[in-house]
Amino acid sequence: MKTILTLVLYFLIVFSSQFGYSQNNDWFTVVYNNVPSDNNLKTQWGYAAWIEKGDEVILFDTGTKSGILQENLRKLGLDPCRVNAIAISHEHLDHTGGLESVLKQVKNGTKVYLPNDFNPSFKKEYDKITFIVNDKYREIAKDIWITEIFIDNNRGIKEQALILEKGEKIIMITGCAHPGIAEMCQSVKDHFPDKKLELVTGGFHLMQMSEERVTQISDKIKQLGFEKVAPSHCTGDHSIAIFKKAWKDDFVQLNLGDSYHF
Ligand SMILES: [Zn+2]
Ligand SMILES: [Zn+2]
Repeated sequence: MKTILTLVLYFLIVFSSQFGYSQNNDWFTVVYNNVPSDNNLKTQWGYAAWIEKGDEVILFDTGTKSGILQENLRKLGLDPCRVNAIAISHEHLDHTGGLESVLKQVKNGTKVYLPNDFNPSFKKEYDKITFIVNDKYREIAKDIWITEIFIDNNRGIKEQALILEKGEKIIMITGCAHPGIAEMCQSVKDHFPDKKLELVTGGFHLMQMSEERVTQISDKIKQLGFEKVAPSHCTGDHSIAIFKKAWKDDFVQLNLGDSYHF
């Protein structure tokens, strides 16, 4: 009898402690990406990520082609009618192409957060959607943020990133990072000075950049305190390889269909 009680107690302790530790029940999945992974999703140039955190379902960017976005979502069992909010990183077709198809499916009153240079011409067709033009750090759902607007000084592109906050952790997702991935990471660190910067992922826009320059940027992200990186989309194969070598076990693969639990 005593043995049974001891066993029961043992299992209770093990299970409760496991329950306590396994709080990584929130997640996101890359639903559109030109960098493939090992699955039957359709690969095409662009980026989109689907985030589920508590009761919140957020779509960050929408890829290039609505048909491909819809097909990938269907294969993943993700229904756009569950989306609570949409955030668009910047106005390039490889991030906005699927938006209008999703707007036809989402609930009335869904909020869409756009960078402040976004062409509003199509908005009038969606009178049940609330479009919010962003210019500063803003909490768009519980513990889900969009950043300030960054500007690419060469091309004038305005861009924002998505931030997931969980307890002490911060996760950052970028679209293309045209204004500079290191500068955007710096801003996030400044805005959340006491947080643990767990991961930055998305497009880092480092194509055709010298190894020396990519290494500087990689070092800067590390110095800022980011623990893991998952560069994809427009980072470029060559630059992704440099990150992989530099970050070793802290390099995470988040290509098309890959998920991250946090
Ligand atoms: Zn872009
Ligand atoms: Zn892009």
